[in-house]
Amino acid sequence: MLRRVLVANRGEIAVRVIRAAHELGIEAVAVYSTADRDAMHVRIADRAVCIGPPPATDSYLNIPSVVAAAGTTGCDAVHPGYGFLAENPAFVHACEQSDLVFVGPGADVMERMGDKVRAKAELAAAGVPVVPGTDRATSLPETAAVADDLGYPILLKASAGGGGKGMRLVDGRAALEGAFQMASGEALAAFGDGSLYVEKALIPARHVEVQVLTDGQGGVLTLGERECSIQRRHQKLIEESPSPALTPERREAMEAAAERACAAIGYRNAGTFEFLLGPDGEFYFIELNARLQVEHPVSELVTGIDLVHGQLRVAAGEPLPVTGRAPRRGHAIELRINAEDPRRGFAPSPGQVERFRPPLGPGVRVDTHVEDGLVVPPYYDSLLAKLIVWAEDRHGAIARGRRALAELEVTGVPTTRELALDILHSEQFVAGSYSTSFIEEAEHLLPALRAR
Ligand code: ADP
Repeated sequence: MLRRVLVANRGEIAVRVIRAAHELGIEAVAVYSTADRDAMHVRIADRAVCIGPPPATDSYLNIPSVVAAAGTTGCDAVHPGYGFLAENPAFVHACEQSDLVFVGPGADVMERMGDKVRAKAELAAAGVPVVPGTDRATSLPETAAVADDLGYPILLKASAGGGGKGMRLVDGRAALEGAFQMASGEALAAFGDGSLYVEKALIPARHVEVQVLTDGQGGVLTLGERECSIQRRHQKLIEESPSPALTPERREAMEAAAERACAAIGYRNAGTFEFLLGPDGEFYFIELNARLQVEHPVSELVTGIDLVHGQLRVAAGEPLPVTGRAPRRGHAIELRINAEDPRRGFAPSPGQVERFRPPLGPGVRVDTHVEDGLVVPPYYDSLLAKLIVWAEDRHGAIARGRRALAELEVTGVPTTRELALDILHSEQFVAGSYSTSFIEEAEHLLPALRAR
């Protein structure tokens, strides 16, 4: 087993990973920027190393500082969490060069899957259905020609994309040129790479993703799907498992596709295959997230499997004890509580959390780094807490989610708590019939989105 792991992250995920390490008898070393000196992850770690000033580029994204922190504290492994350096092949290389086990896939797979166009091509070659579109980055004239073939609406996407940045929906030819310039500029600013590719826009679509864990020795475990269609600005807000949109046959087809893809690309550790379910009910691959995801607890609650334990074990060279389809039971829902203002277009709302009282009781899990008085810095993402509920069935999980949200007290900054309550009370959510456009379309039914 590993002896000491450096947790190259902050916030709730750093806390989550440190806890898992401790449960396995592994020491955990935290890193922090000066903005996070008093953070929970720093306090619960066995040791903590300051790696720089608040801006992420000077701290959590600084590869030499993070690797040096692991070296000077005698770590034998690094867990990247999600975001920051989690999908950065140069970081994986740097870890390997310093004899640190990287808890995740190899640099080569990560690099291939990080190029979304290439990832789609490789998955298509493995027999996985992919969203129709270009198989490489295209110029504006090429894009126009492809769009005519695909038929509008189309979606422009950044080749190096993530977090919905550099993505533009284009309704028709007239809007193409302007959208192309905007998306390319945004991609250049965000990723240092302005290249774009084109996809047919599937509308309405549902975002359904499959969680896998592999040991790199031929063992592949699939943990079912997560339905992530409740989104704002192409980013997830509420996730659930199982998806109300899948039949057992389609679920099996999706898990089999993910399993096949793992073998074809040589995937190791935890990963997520993201698919869209089109209006035709078929599934189409959009991307592989080569890391742990924010919404992983949903799968943990329905399978009883601790994914971070699993990640640490396979990184240490252990084979998976079980492969194939993980058994599952009941229904889980995750509600993301973000420090942002739904009344102002979900603008981030950093500031001081005066009071934070998480809900308790049966079937409730809260993953958070928030304590009374925490100052949410403006430098990082806005996630305060993930409230995850489990019950025997979907109806019970919704009831439990409402109960837990009602108990949750968080004051000092605007959050997404009230919006989550509105959504859990909405007819569409209760019926399980919603698409990725739900929040936009149901605006009039969600009082938390309207100015007081
Ligand atoms: P990112 O990596 O930037 O988060 P993704 O490719 O994962 O981008 O897509 C994020 C979201 O954008 C999806 O969950 C979905 O809501 C929407 N989306 C992506 N591709 C398409 C498509 N071809 N048609 C319709 N919606 C899409």
